[in-house]
Amino acid sequence: PDPTLRPERLEGEPEDRALRPQALTDFVGQAEARANLRVFIESARMRGQAMDHTLFHGPPGLGKTTLAQIMARELGVNFRMTSGPVLARAGDLAAILTNLEARDVLFIDEIHRMNPAVEEVLYPAMEDFELDLVIGEGPAARTVRIELQPFTLVGATTRLGLLTTPLRDRFGIPTRLQFYEVAELDQIVQRGARMMGIKADPDGTLEIARRARGTPRIAGRLLRRVVDFALVEGDGHLDRAIADSALTRLGVDDLGLDGADRRYLTLMAEHYGGGPVGVETLSAALSESRDAIEEVIEPYLLQQGLIARTPRGRQLAPRAWRHLGIAAPRTDLF
Ligand code: ADP
Repeated sequence: PDPTLRPERLEGEPEDRALRPQALTDFVGQAEARANLRVFIESARMRGQAMDHTLFHGPPGLGKTTLAQIMARELGVNFRMTSGPVLARAGDLAAILTNLEARDVLFIDEIHRMNPAVEEVLYPAMEDFELDLVIGEGPAARTVRIELQPFTLVGATTRLGLLTTPLRDRFGIPTRLQFYEVAELDQIVQRGARMMGIKADPDGTLEIARRARGTPRIAGRLLRRVVDFALVEGDGHLDRAIADSALTRLGVDDLGLDGADRRYLTLMAEHYGGGPVGVETLSAALSESRDAIEEVIEPYLLQQGLIARTPRGRQLAPRAWRHLGIAAPRTDLF
């Protein structure tokens, strides 16, 4: 599938720094999360203390990293970033923790993929700002306790269910991010077009917003691709016609679904009579990892009411049959 259309961060991608909102007031959408964070940030500043540990969860590309950076900026502290899979040994995390200055924000992306030995080190660090390090091996081994500066851990995960309970419980501010409304994505696309110096019709940006899968990262990528078409094949002006033809050529359909989404729905319809089908079966038949199916494909299809989760597996909803233009085998399923 075209990587442009996937919500994940791409390796080596020049994430458009200019487009990243720098302050909470520039951050569009997630109104509830934003309002709460504003209070917690302000309170931490008034008290002169580290803000409570915060966990952002939700599908990729919704702004978890962006919000963590904004928190650090608004708190007036340093931003340090790492990720669960990168922290192979306890010492890797210890090195980062001991280098933090008072009240710094440490962002750990994909925190559900942290090695258990590393996670053990994190518990006392989060709770008491202390580090218990084992020095040496065998009978000569001893534990030393190191005091840390108070800091704010910001964790991000696409899979809340994979977090261990002790880790989850240590976050004072768990925050779920939602898919964005079309009007919110439209604001983000309009702002992006302005920053790229592109003249855009309201109909043109709206078309991109409508087909961005509820995800700012995808909206940003689609905007860049549509602008490519507008510059090379049009007169540089972003209107609805050029947006529509560019998005169709990129394989983004009218609901904003991409090839992988449509393969998923078509497989369910044509091979499993609409389900219910287990995720392992879908994973094998689509040659997609179970993680990709559960983290990337399904959340949006569920949110759009195209599929439903049942105890016996996934099932196509009437809207999916209509979208595929295939008659459902029976109508008494729902
Ligand atoms: P995540 O960490 O959840 O995968 P990111 O924070 O990396 O997502 O955001 C993905 C991209 O979308 C970034 O380029 C960011 O600038 C943009 N973005 C995310 N949320 C917003 C928003 N609310 N307004 C504008 N741009 C956003």
